[in-house]
Amino acid sequence: MQFKEAPTYDDVLLVPQYSDIKSRSEVSIASQLGGHKFRLPIIASPMDTVSEEEMGVAMWQEGGLAVVHRYNTIDRQTEIMDHIIVLCQANAGAAIGTSGDYLERASALYEVGVRLLCVDVAHGHHVLMKSALNELRATFGDKIHIMAGNIATLEGYNDLVDWGADSVRCNIGGGSICSTRIQTGHGVPGLHTIIECARSDRNAPIIADGGIRNSGDIVKALAAGADFVMLGSLLSGTDETPGDTINTRKGNFKSYRGMASKHAQVEWRGKTASLEGVATTVPCKGPAADVLEELERGVRSGLSYTGARSIKELQAKAQLIRQTSSGQTESSTHILR
Ligand code: IMP
Repeated sequence: MQFKEAPTYDDVLLVPQYSDIKSRSEVSIASQLGGHKFRLPIIASPMDTVSEEEMGVAMWQEGGLAVVHRYNTIDRQTEIMDHIIVLCQANAGAAIGTSGDYLERASALYEVGVRLLCVDVAHGHHVLMKSALNELRATFGDKIHIMAGNIATLEGYNDLVDWGADSVRCNIGGGSICSTRIQTGHGVPGLHTIIECARSDRNAPIIADGGIRNSGDIVKALAAGADFVMLGSLLSGTDETPGDTINTRKGNFKSYRGMASKHAQVEWRGKTASLEGVATTVPCKGPAADVLEELERGVRSGLSYTGARSIKELQAKAQLIRQTSSGQTESSTHILR
């Protein structure tokens, strides 16, 4: 049996390098997807506690993108997309599945102007993904951008691109609310997946999805070869997430839950299958714009430590090193009290 070592975000650091960048404003962190240039390489997750109408608009206004979740009726999802598109000519993606009414959903979304569909399943390197991508391409040709996932391996990435995906969501089991690895024993540490997929000779954008906890993780993902990161927990609890605010004596909270959690499954399907996610509450964080601004500052600063003015330059120059567990302790704030 083959046995590989697979590092993830905390296991590595980027080595600071000579820099002639005098101001963070010289750094661009723009990235391309589906013929569009995005000022921020950040996509909001298709989850029912993250991306609906308000997040769609906020992400677009801030220079990123949201993918609106599919855990609703076709009418409701098309209504949300219609509002986003009409409101400010915004570009937003919409998620679909690989079975049931997915083609009908895709057509309804296309009708209201959606041009970015995200084929959103837990295990994307799958025969149902292959048939869905074939069917979508046969129906829409090149008139839509198809994001697909999730996959955890180079083979998965290559197959999805060969089956018709224009961009690929990479990482299985690393999400903050994900219990896939505990339930099934399967998954690949997130950064390793990105490093592997970046070795491909195909060049569909790589979306590092799940397990991103701070701007440092974003810089590491981009340096390893990702074109975008996809965020759930970092955007959870912001004003633009769906759901009510829960007021308690300890402060205000909002719900954040995995789409394969018991809570989410019972609400959307009326029953549960394999439980591979958890539900929690997170403190309210204010406007998504504030969170994004802070992340942007950290990422720009990150590029300047490598002496890179763009993501492509970061990828060409970056030197990743493995750190020991003592290094990990040293890397976190550790003032003696
Ligand atoms: P986070 O940014 O670490 O919170 O991860 C968000 C990502 O977790 C999403 O974009 C999905 O890829 C993934 N995800 C969402 N719901 C579930 C679930 O219930 N189980 C496993 N993964 C999930």
